[in-house]
Amino acid sequence: MFQLTLWSAPPFLVILLTLWSMFSLRDKKHIPGTLAINWVLAAACFWCIALLFRSLVTTIELKILATQMAEIGMVFLPVAWFAFTVTYSNNETTISSRALLALAIVPCITLGLAFTNEQHQLIWYQWQLTNLSEYIGLSFQAGSFFPIIAIYSFCLVLCGTAIAINRHNQSQHKELPIITICFTPILIAASILIDELRLTPFQGVEFTSLGLLLGGFLFRAGVVSAGILSHMRIRRHTVVEQLSDMVIIIDSQAGILDFNAAAAQGLHIQPNSNYKREKLRLPALLEMMRTNSSSTELIIDARTYDVRSTPLTPRFAPTPNMNKPAERALVFRDITASKEAQRALLQAKLELQTLAHTDPLTGLYNRRFFMQRLEEEAERLRRHKNPLSCLLFDLDHFKIINDTFGHDAGDKVLKMVAQKTLGATRITDVAARIGGEEFAMLLPETDTDGALRLANRLRESIAKECIYSENRCVNVTTSIGVVTVDQVEDNLDSLLTQADKALYQAKNSGRNMVCIAD
Ligand code: GH3
Ligand code: MG
Ligand code: MG
Repeated sequence: MFQLTLWSAPPFLVILLTLWSMFSLRDKKHIPGTLAINWVLAAACFWCIALLFRSLVTTIELKILATQMAEIGMVFLPVAWFAFTVTYSNNETTISSRALLALAIVPCITLGLAFTNEQHQLIWYQWQLTNLSEYIGLSFQAGSFFPIIAIYSFCLVLCGTAIAINRHNQSQHKELPIITICFTPILIAASILIDELRLTPFQGVEFTSLGLLLGGFLFRAGVVSAGILSHMRIRRHTVVEQLSDMVIIIDSQAGILDFNAAAAQGLHIQPNSNYKREKLRLPALLEMMRTNSSSTELIIDARTYDVRSTPLTPRFAPTPNMNKPAERALVFRDITASKEAQRALLQAKLELQTLAHTDPLTGLYNRRFFMQRLEEEAERLRRHKNPLSCLLFDLDHFKIINDTFGHDAGDKVLKMVAQKTLGATRITDVAARIGGEEFAMLLPETDTDGALRLANRLRESIAKECIYSENRCVNVTTSIGVVTVDQVEDNLDSLLTQADKALYQAKNSGRNMVCIAD
């Protein structure tokens, strides 16, 4: 009932080879195409288990049973091959289960016929035991359904191989995978044809398992070990996985499809959870999707991200489907550090600007800024013809204050005057210390009367103030020159000259007074 011959070795070796290959692929499940490769290996393995069984048994009933079992592996191997080549060829495509079911219709019919072959003999006929040097084999003629399943299987294999070759033409790693993809099916198909069409003088001897063995070695060398799976996509996968940028693929409804390790951490997605049901609920992202824009900035856990969105169009889609927009790859780059640096730079720039415009002792604007603002106001005056007034004032006998109370007391007085000046200004006015104890005010849209009122108010408030130095009250008065213009010549100095003249007049007229320029 059983025999042990050398003819059992090829299917046995194929079983070992396929199991070993499946074992080597166990940690590559995340790579597209691996599942389909496993199906190819599983179909070949199952086929060879049946062939091994057929080579071991000697009764015709068991040999027929083994042949029926072998049929399962044989008819599904081309479907698995097709699925492998398609998934391998297009990163975005996973062959749908509906398509797989459609492809499996003919194989299922074949299996139905194989298991009921005795009634109709459509798959094989004239089966009989053979004896070749002590080996009891099974020989039969291919039935009339055989061409249908043969042509169907060859077409599937041919299409799949053509797709894979086309894909490989675009890659730089050609030789071994391309040889594998071309020759594995050729070897197996040739061995099946030799067996089924009885092209060998050794009736009953399995050439199929020899073909599967050689094909298995080739497949392992070119696809499982060195070739396709160590190809660009793995490297890309590894690079994407190790990127510090968060990469996430979402569908048109913001449902999460895939993500790298950084995204899992940054967006708190559990890699093992049922994340495919989760959605990205970040309002800025939803807005970006709604407006179809390609980038946005958002803050997650107090970190700022620059998010770039790239639509992913399936490679074989004939036209973009408007009802179902493409999936998107989102790349989140953490720009917190550069944002902070930008903010600090802006802050430093503002501080520097303030320093460049400010008089360090009093905090008023300095002469440079005053002149700059004077030019701007003069320009406005040229356009709008509203009056512009300027006060120029100088502390009276300040030298005496310094000499009597000391320089520090003098400084206190200068600060007090600055406070009074600031208190008298409106938001549009500019108050500056333009010299040692000389101050100026620019009063846009202010006529002579207004300027005069302000000057007198300021003069009085300064005169009233008392700065204490060594328990002694230090008073100071000011002389103020006022000038008002409603048109201005190009030479702005003349405006200051006129104000200076008025100031000189106030000094000469006894000080502590306001004079208007002629
Ligand atoms: P006049 O009424 O004619 O203006 O007399 P004056 O003494 O105020 O005029 P003068 O120009 O002779 O003196 C100005 C003084 O202001 C001389 C200088 O010591 C003093 N001064 C200038 N800058 C500062 C400063 O930053 N701090 C102090 N404490 N004194 C200053
Ligand atoms: Mg003075
Ligand atoms: Mg002076």
